Amino acid sequence: MENFINNLPKLAKDKHNENKKFFAKLKSKPPKNLDYVMQELHDNEFNKTDCLECANCCKTTGPLFTDKDVERIAKHFKMKTQQFINQYLRLDEDNDYVLQTVPCTFLGADNYCAIYDVRPKACREYPHTDRKKFQQISNLTIKNVAICPAAYNIVEEMKKRIKV
Ligand code: SF4
Ligand code: SF4
Repeated sequence: MENFINNLPKLAKDKHNENKKFFAKLKSKPPKNLDYVMQELHDNEFNKTDCLECANCCKTTGPLFTDKDVERIAKHFKMKTQQFINQYLRLDEDNDYVLQTVPCTFLGADNYCAIYDVRPKACREYPHTDRKKFQQISNLTIKNVAICPAAYNIVEEMKKRIKV
């Protein structure tokens, strides 16, 4: 797994143009059963991928924190919302709350998330490969294949399975 993760930026770069073309075609004519196919590809991949052996998303990119995330996690720590924001978050260029530092402060050395039960929605949904109308998040997915080995494999399987 570690080798794969280290090679991922290069592998993703090599596939970049191919992926861009594939998603452009997919977007213009998505198959009717795309949601179904994506759920199957996602489930197959995550049946064999152990995120605890990876945690590359938590190590290299942080999630966005919605207002609800902030309230829930601050409550978990018995902190005031503003106190939590001051301690852990900053506003990014789009005015969204993100972590002040990566790797994520809440990631343990054993790759467990210290706030797993209350983690941000974006963490729960990452890498979004079971998202309905998957063709709508192609730009995000093209970025995610350089970070997430599971997303990389899922996109490779998509290209074999879906003829565009
Ligand atoms: S979601 Fe992807 S990047 Fe994150 S831990 Fe799982 S396999 Fe790794
Ligand atoms: S909150 Fe948890 S799941 Fe989300 S990035 Fe941090 S360690 Fe990973």
